[in-house]
This record gives sequence, structure tokens and C-alpha cells, in this order.
Amino acid sequence: MRCLVVEDEPEIRADLARALEAAGFTVDAVGDGESAWFQGDVEDYDVAVLDLGLPRLDGLSVLRRWRTAGRAFPVIVVSARGDWTEKVEGIEAGADDYLAKPFQMGELVARVRGVVRRGAGRLSPTLVAGRLRLDTVRMTATFDGAPVRISPLEFRLLDHLAHQAGRAVSAGELAEHLYGVDGSGDANAIEAIVARLRRKFGNDLIRTRRGFGYLLEGE
Ligand code: CA
Repeated sequence: MRCLVVEDEPEIRADLARALEAAGFTVDAVGDGESAWFQGDVEDYDVAVLDLGLPRLDGLSVLRRWRTAGRAFPVIVVSARGDWTEKVEGIEAGADDYLAKPFQMGELVARVRGVVRRGAGRLSPTLVAGRLRLDTVRMTATFDGAPVRISPLEFRLLDHLAHQAGRAVSAGELAEHLYGVDGSGDANAIEAIVARLRRKFGNDLIRTRRGFGYLLEGE
């Protein structure tokens, strides 16, 4: 799951990125509205956390531009003023949730997971793909009901495939989802993770569709 964090305070931005990465998200973080608008327009995010008071372009304008351009990913608006007019404006501009500063990181992470889940049309935090079940809160996996120990990167790869509902996903797209725009991931790294997952779950869980990419059994 890829998350865009937009926050101009460097310390809060770093805290947000750390908390969301610990929760299993691949995070890109930017500090001004122009970069946010650009990044959200060209990259493929699953969710964004958007501060309203930003240099160069304010958060509400960023959100309106994304929505006008048809960018539909869920957005949680964060604002320093717990001002209800701002909350209403945010919702009217297309925000999915609103959080006033200061907030607890745990609450923010729970809200982010909530909007991602609702955005994907799921009410339960468990993803099922054939014999695989992923618990998206605990970041754990079971196969035929038995727990299988997996690393955060392995979890993110399975989580992304499980969200794609039968679509084959290229190694390049997986690398972006696992490592972010600035990440060092490439197709070879993805192949290595897939090979590791096949050793743990057997060869049939992740199928290779030649020329297209990877997909999960049972989709
Ligand atoms: Ca701000």
C-alpha cells in the first residue's frame, strides 16, 4: 500500500512517515502543496495524508485539483485549527476523513487503515485470496489456516497482489509499491521476494503470467 504524506513541518512529516512505514505502508513524503499536487497526479497512491496549511499551494486547493483531475484515492485531511468550517470545506473538496492537530499517531494510523479499507469496499481488516488470509492490522499471514512468518516487505507484496483482484501486476509496479518513488527496489529485488514467498507458501500461491507479471492463486 502506497501512502503520500503531505506536511510542511519536517518533524511531523518524519513522525508520520515513520508511523505509517511501521504500519506496513510504503511512504512518499513531501513538504509543499505544489509537490503534493504533482506527486498525487503522476503517482499511483492508495491513500494520502494531507495537511491544509502548506507553502506554495494550500491543501484544499491540492485536494480540489486531484479530484478535478479524477484522482480518486482516499485522502485524510489534517489541520492545525480544529475549525468546523475547515472540516466542512475539506469534506466538500473530496476528503474522506478529517483529523485535527495535535493527534495521536495511533489514531492517525487507524484512520488511514479505515479509509483504505472502505475505499477498497471491504469492511473487515482480513484479506482472503484462495488459501491465503492476510490480517492487515497485525500484518500477519495464514495459509490453510496455519500462520506463516513473513517479513514486512513480503507482507506488502502479498497485500498489493491481494488488492488487485485477479489482475497480473508487473515487477516494476510492485517495486514502486514496496519501495516508493525514491526507493532502490527493482525487478530483481521483486523476483527475489517472490522466490522467498514461493519457498514459504509453495509454488502455486503466486503465479507468473508471462509478459504481464504476478498474480495470486484463487483470484
Ligand atoms: Ca502546515
